[in-house]
Amino acid sequence: MNLTDAWEGETITIATMHGKEQVIAPILEQAWGLRSIVPSELDTDRFGTFTREVDRPGDQLATARAKARAALALTDGSIALASEGSFGPHPSVPFAAANRELVLLIDQSLGLELVGEAISLKTNYRQGRVRSWAEVEKFAETIGFPDHGLVVGWGEPQNLQGVTKGLRDRSALAAAVTEALTRSADGSLWVETDMRAMHNPTRMQVIAQATENLVAKARSTCPVCHWPGFWVTQRLPGLPCGECGLPTPLIRLHRSICDRCGHQQDDPFPQGETTADPTYCPFCNP
Ligand SMILES: [Zn+2]
Ligand SMILES: [Zn+2]
Repeated sequence: MNLTDAWEGETITIATMHGKEQVIAPILEQAWGLRSIVPSELDTDRFGTFTREVDRPGDQLATARAKARAALALTDGSIALASEGSFGPHPSVPFAAANRELVLLIDQSLGLELVGEAISLKTNYRQGRVRSWAEVEKFAETIGFPDHGLVVGWGEPQNLQGVTKGLRDRSALAAAVTEALTRSADGSLWVETDMRAMHNPTRMQVIAQATENLVAKARSTCPVCHWPGFWVTQRLPGLPCGECGLPTPLIRLHRSICDRCGHQQDDPFPQGETTADPTYCPFCNP
């Protein structure tokens, strides 16, 4: 028995105005029979925009939580979901850009909070200064236009002027580019990928993966109190070297801790190997 089985036939409020429900709602419907609604009055852009007009109020999780709570305040339901994306260096792959998507589900009456996550190296997050239509066309090609949208403006990226978003066809793009080139002081314009979900199918796929991860976490329950969301939260390094026995940076232990009762479960040697190849040993292979 899983607490979340009680969601069958219930309504969930999805806090988005960028079409994320297109990928999220079918997964929730299939997993629990949850019926999704999207409140039309919710302005999620006040919690931050990718184009920097509004800064995010907190980190990714805090921002998702603020959106979910704002959505709940607009409805009389008790279950809400919000998602929040970020783009930056990959946490473990050097020099690679990554898209990290978080999906947060809150059930206020149960006092339950679940977080799904996906990190993808597949992202077309790019931006730059260009000086001609030819350069714009080249940029557009690299990010997968017109399936993916573009943002065009002029001036400094931190304070863009004349911003046009959601450009998805050549004539609209050409008009925005002509205007920007004419009006900018130095004859250059700023172009970037529109990262809003409905203009970025690549990102939409990562949001779907994060939602699948949320479902998997909800299905995993604490062996002691059966609270949903029992999942590995710590990955501890120190797998001993097969040659000298000293600790290496490789993972030795996965640790799961229950949000509810604090039960802790350690799973040693998560990769199945009890020792590390000496290649990874700072002593044998400094
Ligand atoms: Zn527990
Ligand atoms: Zn060693």
